[in-house]
Amino acid sequence: LRAYSALSSTATSFPQTHEKISKPEDTPYFIDNEFVGSKADKWIELHDPATNNLVTRVPQMTDAELEAVVASAQKAFPAWRNMSVLARQQIMFKFVNLVRENWDRLAASITLEQGKTFPDAKGDVLRGLQVAEAACGAPELLKGEVLEVAKDMETRSYKEPLGVVAAICPFNFPAMIPLWSIPIATVTGNTLIIKPSERDPGAAMILMELVKKAGFPEGVVNVVHGAHRTVDFILDAPEIKAVSFVGGNKAGEYIFTRGSANGKRVQANLGAKNHAAVLPDANKNHFINSVVGAAFGAAGQRCMALSTLVMVGETKEWLNEVAESAKQLTINGGFEPGADLGPVISPQSKERIESLIASAEAEGATILLDGRGAKPPGAQYANGNWVGPTIITNVTTDMKCYTEEIFGPVLVCLNVDTLDEAIDLINANEYGNGTAIFTRSGATAESFRRNIEAGQVGINVPIPVPLPMFSFTGNKKSIAGGGANTFYGRPGINFYTQQKTVTTMWSSADAISKKADVSMPTHS
Ligand code: NAD
Repeated sequence: LRAYSALSSTATSFPQTHEKISKPEDTPYFIDNEFVGSKADKWIELHDPATNNLVTRVPQMTDAELEAVVASAQKAFPAWRNMSVLARQQIMFKFVNLVRENWDRLAASITLEQGKTFPDAKGDVLRGLQVAEAACGAPELLKGEVLEVAKDMETRSYKEPLGVVAAICPFNFPAMIPLWSIPIATVTGNTLIIKPSERDPGAAMILMELVKKAGFPEGVVNVVHGAHRTVDFILDAPEIKAVSFVGGNKAGEYIFTRGSANGKRVQANLGAKNHAAVLPDANKNHFINSVVGAAFGAAGQRCMALSTLVMVGETKEWLNEVAESAKQLTINGGFEPGADLGPVISPQSKERIESLIASAEAEGATILLDGRGAKPPGAQYANGNWVGPTIITNVTTDMKCYTEEIFGPVLVCLNVDTLDEAIDLINANEYGNGTAIFTRSGATAESFRRNIEAGQVGINVPIPVPLPMFSFTGNKKSIAGGGANTFYGRPGINFYTQQKTVTTMWSSADAISKKADVSMPTHS
């Protein structure tokens, strides 16, 4: 078993290397604050994307194990919800400090399993940590409302926890996305079961060590593993009251439908195709630096990656300079100093990305910069899943490279003549996660802001992911259920709580009517 608790004494140490592990150990699950080896007969192999060396095996947990985890979370719920919010806040303070102390260790685990560069992995951890920091404000965030609705009568509202809740996570942010749920689900009084991505659960497992150290009681936070089967178990377990999902549309739409049909609350953030409109009055240098970072950082495997450029008027002439800048990026193992982008997650993903580039070529687009065949130097990385920065120009909206989410280091570029055409093109896209505009004109930016339909808008900001005092507000096909349940911020608190309203009357005996009133009370 990978010895998570043993590593905790050396908080900052985690081998920062892609060297082959001589004896890969299996990933345990986490129940009752203990790491336990699964008795599964099916295991999912996890390979370092930079080398394809085996890192660990992740179990497809058995039904009996999954049932035990649900029972543990259910057993922990009454005491946890009855603990004062101030006591839960104290645990959250400790958890926040521990995540900060273990920042490098968490990031190193991400670089090893997911592939992103170490500095980028540190950002992954920080963005999640900030959600935990915001959750420390729970006593304020959980306050209800009160109104004196009539003489002697008042109504007050309470935010109460739901019970056992679950979070199903994607591979691309192994720390941040579990941390969209752990702090908010628990500080509001729920107990939680996390299913990290089977492709990189290491960061979530380190977080469990910190959960235990921070003083979360047994059963409050748990980790289960597996793929489709584990997801189905979560969706069908009647004890689980709500499901948070982040991932692609295929899984997400299925999870939203099946979870909702089973009477659960579901929040589900899905795929994306984020466009930037580039205006001739933009600061060209700022635009080039922004787009190269946002398109190719994390090898394009961010749901807010800027993957599509809409070049207005003569700005199409700038694309050669974008390509020159992209060529300067270094692909390499994520621990190597100076690496700008690491590998993509799997050989299948590399193949899919390369076939989408090939389809663009076949459909008449121009491959201005071709990352196929790119490889870092050194025999160690010969088998990694490498795709270099790729820029496809003269793209039209009917091409496959435009209609599909590529989720790799590929930037597709379309040309239009006016701002209105750019807005129409972006609005016609079925996804609505994020968008950006590059311009120096306040009036242009304001018109874009008002008329654009995507849910997260950057004005000269390429990846406008809101901090946790706001909420993650993608829309259209990028979120299930019409976006009613968004992650973190006040809506996140609302997702993990149900409201109870209590109406009270305390009147003196004289004021109480002598006769029953059978009409609907209106208090008017
Ligand atoms: P994915 O949908 O393949 O997997 C996500 C989770 O769902 C995993 O835990 C996986 O085990 C499970 N899963 C996968 N297929 C399933 C199926 N058929 N039935 C049931 N469960 C299934 O996503 P991924 O490849 O891990 O992550 C990348 C995707 O996530 C991209 O589409 C990206 O845009 C999206 N994403 C969205 C956001 C957002 O906030 N909108 C954030 C991050 C990632």
